[in-house]
Amino acid sequence: TPTSRVDKLLSSMGYGSRNEVARIAKRGGITLDAGKLLDVTKRISVTPDLPARMEIDGEALDAVPGVVIVLNKPLGMTCSHKENGALVYDVLPERWKRRDPAISTIGRLDKQTSGLLLLTDDGGLLHRVISPRRRVKKTYRVKLARPLDGTVGDLFASARLMLEGEDKPLAPAELEVVSETEALLTVTEGRYHQVRRMFAATGNHVEKLHRERVGGLSLPHGMAPGQWNLLSEEEIALIF
Ligand code: URA
Repeated sequence: TPTSRVDKLLSSMGYGSRNEVARIAKRGGITLDAGKLLDVTKRISVTPDLPARMEIDGEALDAVPGVVIVLNKPLGMTCSHKENGALVYDVLPERWKRRDPAISTIGRLDKQTSGLLLLTDDGGLLHRVISPRRRVKKTYRVKLARPLDGTVGDLFASARLMLEGEDKPLAPAELEVVSETEALLTVTEGRYHQVRRMFAATGNHVEKLHRERVGGLSLPHGMAPGQWNLLSEEEIALIF
């Protein structure tokens, strides 16, 4: 297991500079296994159970590095660190914006798309989920402006659909018709505005887009827009 100096760890988790962390400890604000921790140069093992053993000003330590978050992304939030307006990162604790390694979204959902969004500070995991080679399935619930035409499913499954401005056809995608104007679409790629552009290519228009699943991981039942959870090892394994 990795070890770290307490000041370095807490500083990388956004609690303040190393000097600020030292000051918190000096006034008795840091406890480990219910005892005051005064020497922040002490090395400790960084294990997932650390938040159960360490408190900062009476509150459990945040999740240690290696976090994976599932968020039910609300409409109107942007998957960006920089843009103006509401960002998906705003739903997480303020301190988490200062974490290093940074927490980033695993791929992106459009501002006007809702549903299952993963975030992580684990670059290796991020890469494995978005790598086209792995063909991780993403399932979207789509509400359409016009009735679905009976040929759309075959076209999406064909590996012949070319999006406007691109030179490589889309990989096969699976369409499950729910009603005349609603469908579930499962894709294995993550091209720009892919689902909206796929339906636009058929002369239709996506009115509502909601991601329900990534790999075998579904949005937790009853998770309201804006709510999030940390994923367990077992849940992370469901993605692949
Ligand atoms: N496809 C889109 O067009 N938008 C999304 O947000 C996700 C997939």
